[in-house]
Amino acid sequence: MKTILIYSGGMDSTTLLYKLRAEGDLLHALSFDYGQRHKKELKAAAKICKKLNVPHKIVDITAVKNLMEGSALTSGRIKVPEGHYQDKTMRATVVPNRNMIFIALAIAQAVSMKFDRVAIAVHAGDHAIYPDCRPAFIKAMHTASKIANYEKIAISAPFLNITKRDIAKIGHQLGVPYELTWTCYKGLHKPCGKCGACVERQEALC
Ligand SMILES: [Zn+2]
Repeated sequence: MKTILIYSGGMDSTTLLYKLRAEGDLLHALSFDYGQRHKKELKAAAKICKKLNVPHKIVDITAVKNLMEGSALTSGRIKVPEGHYQDKTMRATVVPNRNMIFIALAIAQAVSMKFDRVAIAVHAGDHAIYPDCRPAFIKAMHTASKIANYEKIAISAPFLNITKRDIAKIGHQLGVPYELTWTCYKGLHKPCGKCGACVERQEALC
């Protein structure tokens, strides 16, 4: 399979990168600079792709950053909430239509490169807070993708129904270097240990 991987440099998509590589996919990783507060993740993504010799592109979509404001991840004036993904306050981290934008651009890349599919590392733990990580959304995008182009690009989300802890188990078997990945939403020098992303990561890796 020739797969475009939507790759953030975090633990879920890095595990998917290692998994698809182990399965023999020809991979092309795409990361997006959408003006996120935790831009550090892009450096982690680049480093890991280099280590694995996987072609990687950072797509600068900061020109449309204004269209994606209103989230703590894209607006400096909104504070990053602390706690679990299940907490209502975590809704502040939902970026307007993010995954639809990412998947749409990745489909375009797949068509133009004559690839077979787009892979994304959404998982069950994301469902509570992020509507664009839920099975109904992924299914709808898969359907839309098949209609939108002459080339039938599939959307693959192999972690859709498993937890972050399950992902960590798969990653440990594959030797994923989690110390190189970046998760924290705050994007400071060190992970804050308190934001939703940090909390979920700690619980999955413990
Ligand atoms: Zn954090």
